[in-house]
Amino acid sequence: MKAGTTADKLKPPLRGFTHQKYEDEAAKWEETGQFDYFSKGRYSFVRMHLWLDSRGARFEGVNERLQRYYWALKEELKPESWYDDFLNERDICRECGESFSYENLSFCTFCEANYGYCHKPGGFGTNGNPVCPLCGKGEIVG
Ligand SMILES: [Zn+2]
Ligand SMILES: [Zn+2]
Repeated sequence: MKAGTTADKLKPPLRGFTHQKYEDEAAKWEETGQFDYFSKGRYSFVRMHLWLDSRGARFEGVNERLQRYYWALKEELKPESWYDDFLNERDICRECGESFSYENLSFCTFCEANYGYCHKPGGFGTNGNPVCPLCGKGEIVG
């Protein structure tokens, strides 16, 4: 057993559920060189991109490995070729059904819920990001 293990366990978690999910993927990528994100699609990359830019991510602090994972994934997906098209695609606010372009929607980092500015969730988690009222796990970004 490494010195400090018990003390580490007593510390409050610095990472929320979303942050841990990305950390796990970054660790897996570092170990295997495989991008888990491919199976989940490019929208997942957009959500990660938005999360990394969120208040909650800044509050929790993102380590160097996760940043490297992000840049490697970005290089792999080359978002320039589809990102503008993506922003022009449309989906609905899950609360009221009104249609918006993706550019004007907010996303849950965990489930498939989208929210328009009309119904952006206001219940904030410990890192300052809104918590998704549908799944109760993801954070709302964008
Ligand atoms: Zn709405
Ligand atoms: Zn959700």
